[in-house]
Amino acid sequence: NPFREAEFVLGAGRLDQLPDDAGAEIAFAGRSNAGKSSALNTLCERRALARVGRTPGRTQEINVFRLPPLGRWRLVDLPGYGYAKVSARQRAHWDRLIGDYLRERRSLAGLVLIMDIRHPLTPLDEAMLHWLEGRPRPLHVLLTKADKVSRSEAGRQLQATRRGLEARGLDATLQTFSALKREGVEDLRGLLVDWLGA
Ligand code: GDP
Repeated sequence: NPFREAEFVLGAGRLDQLPDDAGAEIAFAGRSNAGKSSALNTLCERRALARVGRTPGRTQEINVFRLPPLGRWRLVDLPGYGYAKVSARQRAHWDRLIGDYLRERRSLAGLVLIMDIRHPLTPLDEAMLHWLEGRPRPLHVLLTKADKVSRSEAGRQLQATRRGLEARGLDATLQTFSALKREGVEDLRGLLVDWLGA
């Protein structure tokens, strides 16, 4: 598992604080509380690479992790969105930071969008996807917390989300996932390794 050795590099509040735009990186985005930190920790087999359940909306920074030994590959944890108590100013800052990141980052090899399987494709997710339309990137949708629904419900939500993405003209891959049950981790790792060209 190449993700096991991920190490924290820095938190960036502005794009010019990010590491050199070289090599390849994979970004993770999602609504606050969707399960992004848990998914990252499961991917990397770490308890607290990304902190689970931290006060939503507090982390407005882009957290960057490097994958040794060469450090040419990175994982990027984008700030969670949709936390109700965020001020209009913070929201505007977030919009600009993430929007600029998705449009401008050349080394971005793909985006993993994390959604709670019980509430996929919220209006905020749609807004996020809108930014990708200007500059399409590989997109993978992780429907997480799959342990919270029956298998048939998981299948239905997967289908509905797939149709929703198609209707938007987005060419994405999708899967169900559970950090709790560690389901779907191998599929996710395989895809990300492909994206990195590892
Ligand atoms: P983030 O805000 O998107 O980083 O979400 P977190 O990873 O902090 O998770 C939010 C809450 O959902 C926490 O209470 C987690 O324990 C819970 N959670 C995350 N992933 C799963 C999962 O796969 N299954 C279940 N049952 N709970 C999960």
